[in-house]
Amino acid sequence: MKVTMVMKEFKGLTLDNNDELRIAGIVRESIVDGPGIRFVIFCQGCPHNCRGCHNPETHDFKSGYSCSIDKLVKAIDENPMLQGVTFSGGEPLCQSAGFLSLAKEVKARKLNLLIYTGYTFEVLSEMRKSNASLDELLNLTDILVDGPFEEEQKDLTLQYRGSRNQRVIDMKLSDEVNAPVLIDGDVSL
Ligand code: SF4
Repeated sequence: MKVTMVMKEFKGLTLDNNDELRIAGIVRESIVDGPGIRFVIFCQGCPHNCRGCHNPETHDFKSGYSCSIDKLVKAIDENPMLQGVTFSGGEPLCQSAGFLSLAKEVKARKLNLLIYTGYTFEVLSEMRKSNASLDELLNLTDILVDGPFEEEQKDLTLQYRGSRNQRVIDMKLSDEVNAPVLIDGDVSL
């Protein structure tokens, strides 16, 4: 995927604001969307259109419903057993301003933050140079699962990802070396 094309798609989206998110739904307690017990937000809207996507109902940016960041934070605070929060899709990084507001609350509670994205780490490295909220959001991210779902590389044995091209990336270590540092084997907290 060419970076220029992705930037154009990204700029064309109008959902992004600081105090609410367009979402498809939430799962209050999950053990399959990252390590530990996690609160999961499935956002609405995705430009990637991966063949074989398991969540096609999340593609339409006009569908789903709006939910305030305050309401999501309240729901997170209701469960003291949570160890992390996962932003899933749709494409969360098309709403980077809203997810940044939520990420700040997540990190203030010392919870682990995992983000699923259809963009690759390398494409995001270019995008974040001209998008301050995206840059800050990625700085707060602990684990990034990157890349589009590729049906021909589908593998049901993989942990926390659907196809072999997707990578589980330690974002803190990656920031230090300015390159994707992959988490091999079991992903734990
Ligand atoms: S990035 Fe995810 S939600 Fe979007 S089309 Fe691909 S698999 Fe589906």
